[in-house]
Amino acid sequence: MNNGLVDLHTHSTASDGTLTPTELMRAAAEVGLAAIALTDHDTCNGIAEAQAEVDRLGGGVRLITGIEISATFPGPGVLHILGHFVDPLSPALKEISKILLAGRNERNPKIVRRLNELGCRISMEQVEEIARRGVPEAGGGKFTVGRPHIAQALVANGSVASIKQAFDVYLGTTGAAYFDKEMLTPRQAFECIHKAGGLATVAHPVQLKAQNTAHFQTIINHLVEAGLDGIEVWHSDHTERDVAFLLEMAKRYDLVTTGGSDFHGRVKEQVALGVGKNNVRVPVEVLERLEERWRVKRSAA
Ligand code: AMP
Ligand code: ZN
Ligand code: FE
Ligand code: FE
Repeated sequence: MNNGLVDLHTHSTASDGTLTPTELMRAAAEVGLAAIALTDHDTCNGIAEAQAEVDRLGGGVRLITGIEISATFPGPGVLHILGHFVDPLSPALKEISKILLAGRNERNPKIVRRLNELGCRISMEQVEEIARRGVPEAGGGKFTVGRPHIAQALVANGSVASIKQAFDVYLGTTGAAYFDKEMLTPRQAFECIHKAGGLATVAHPVQLKAQNTAHFQTIINHLVEAGLDGIEVWHSDHTERDVAFLLEMAKRYDLVTTGGSDFHGRVKEQVALGVGKNNVRVPVEVLERLEERWRVKRSAA
């Protein structure tokens, strides 16, 4: 029996999480989730291994395919787009993954170089070694280096006391060693997700850092025009007030709703699978509505 809850936003070692796709599926089964979406940054390389484990577990937890893509957006906010129900083998998606990975490979050495200028002795090799841990073989051994890996390297060599400190001082958007990576425009990200057969939603909309309701609505109008399907209402960063506001916005713009913990394992210790931080509890009905929207859209296409 499952607990009637789902978690539609999680990361594995295929991107910057610390559990392998196999471990993540086992954890989902232990928590008793009805379904889990694997939404690694820029890649679906963890999906095959996750699906194999879910099949092996035999019933119980269901796997929803997914991806999370960062898109261009004026600061100080960030725009992350989730794609659910994407086909991991989609050529469009593979092509985009390649471009985004190349963008990371260009950015990461810049961060590491700056960190060394600032007195933190770390190398790309150390960072890559951390990023390579637990990378799914089924994904061809390809790995994604993200800032959390750099943060772990900084903790390991004593440059900072914690992951949080690594982001506060160096890696966050206002940190001393922050560099942007190559990003798609929102429209390109939506197109890619749609070509791969998925539904596109704005992840953790609070991170857009809209100044007020009018500003938020301007952003959403623009994104809807570019192809947005929905918004993530339940998330570890959202307060009860945020949830109420986002539900109202979803209704107003006829956006489908999704929710998840944004679980990353050890690099985000406060965020637990299935419950997140602020007691994120996403009932299975949310997934049912998401899937219904997806079906309707597919049959209309
Ligand atoms: P990247 O994709 O390499 O730009 O790294 C983005 C990831 O870094 C996010 O998905 C989070 O997992 C993590 N991250 C971003 N900001 C912070 C922060 N302030 N504290 C901890 N982790 C963060
Ligand atoms: Zn992440
Ligand atoms: Fe995100
Ligand atoms: Fe995420």
